[in-house]
This record gives sequence, structure tokens and C-alpha cells, in this order.
Amino acid sequence: MTLGVIEAPALVLFSGGQDSATCLVWALARFARVETIGFDYRQRHRVELGCRGAILGRLRGEFPAWGAKLGDDHLLDLGVLGDISETALTRDSEIAFGEGGLPNTFVPGRNLVFFTLAAALGYRRGLRHLVGGMCETDYSGYPDCRDDTLKALQATLSLGMDHRFVIHTPLMWRDKAATWALAEALGGAALVELIRTESHSCYRGERGEEHDWGYGCGACPACDLRAQGYRRYIANR
Ligand code: ZN
Repeated sequence: MTLGVIEAPALVLFSGGQDSATCLVWALARFARVETIGFDYRQRHRVELGCRGAILGRLRGEFPAWGAKLGDDHLLDLGVLGDISETALTRDSEIAFGEGGLPNTFVPGRNLVFFTLAAALGYRRGLRHLVGGMCETDYSGYPDCRDDTLKALQATLSLGMDHRFVIHTPLMWRDKAATWALAEALGGAALVELIRTESHSCYRGERGEEHDWGYGCGACPACDLRAQGYRRYIANR
């Protein structure tokens, strides 16, 4: 897939998961240069932070044209978010669904904080294009993943810093099967295999067992979404 290149740099919210890894490659195909930002908020699946380096290293080694565009990687300590969040994503508790239909893996304000810090970093470094893997098509119902939320946040950040920011969410209207198909369109089977084996989705942070869709416990909502999407992608090929 060839995208018209925007002659400007971008900053990608890169957690080490399937969605943000796909977004990172989308941004490498689209922008002149790409920096990455990740957050350590004491998530149970902190193993994903280790996946970030592995993915960046393999992109540099196996896709040199993209590797040449990769700039600095920023890892921010956001322990305070874990300290104030009583959720199954930051505590060792059972994953369950609350009365409002939201799973208790919801970390209130997470994406608002992430984008605000990304904008603050981008302000200093001349990065006005911010890219995130949020999606409201095939997701857990988190309100801070929704298109309206992020459009409002784009306006808020641009006004609040008196500086034009553009939030890009290339996965917003894609389901998980389409996200795998996007990876294939961008980088072929080699990229799908890189993302399948190196990216992390499992909320429990398990990477012990390999499945057809990658590593994970195979039972949590994140593994379930990923497995179903991968199988639909394979069935539709
Ligand atoms: Zn899992």
C-alpha cells in the first residue's frame, strides 16, 4: 500500500500492542519521520513495554526504509495513573463487567492523559501530528476511545496550547480483522507475522503460550478480541 507522504513528522502513541504497532507502520508509510511515545502506568501487562523495543528493533532490521524514518522513542513514567486507578488493569483482580456495561479494565482518563502528554512533548519537539490506535468499531466500550472524544480532545489541545494539533486514528472505523488486513496491505505477510509474534494484547500479561493469533492467556477480553479478529482475517483472505 502506498500512501501520499505528508512532509511533516508525527508522534505515535506506541504501547507495544497490535493496534498501536499497526498504527506505527501506517504512520511510517504516511509521514516523513516518526517518533514514538509509551507510558509505564504500572499496567498488569507491563510485558507489553518490552515488546516495544523488540518491534522497533525488527522494523529497523527488516524494513530499512521505515527504519530510516524512525526517530526517538520516549517512555514516560506514569505511575501516578496506576496509583489512583482501582482497576483490573492496574491491580491483580478478576476482570469483570460493571453495571454500565464497561469492563473493570477501564482506566478512567487514560487516553486523555496520554494524548495530553504526547501534545506537551510534541509542542516542544515540533510534532503536531499525533497518532493513536483507538477504535470504536470492535472494542471494549471505553469512552475515551471514541471518535467524538478524540475530536473534542484535538480541539481542546489545540486551543489550550494555542498550537495546531491533529489527532489521527486510522483504526477508528476498522474492526480487528480489518486491522490485520491493513498490516498486510502495508507490509505483506512479513509484517503480519512480526505483529502476530511480537505485539502484546493480553490484559493478564501472559506470553507463555503461542496461539495462531499470537501470545496470550487466550481467555481475557483482549485475547478474545484479538483471536476473533485474526480468525476472521484469515477466513476472509
Ligand atoms: Zn489474555
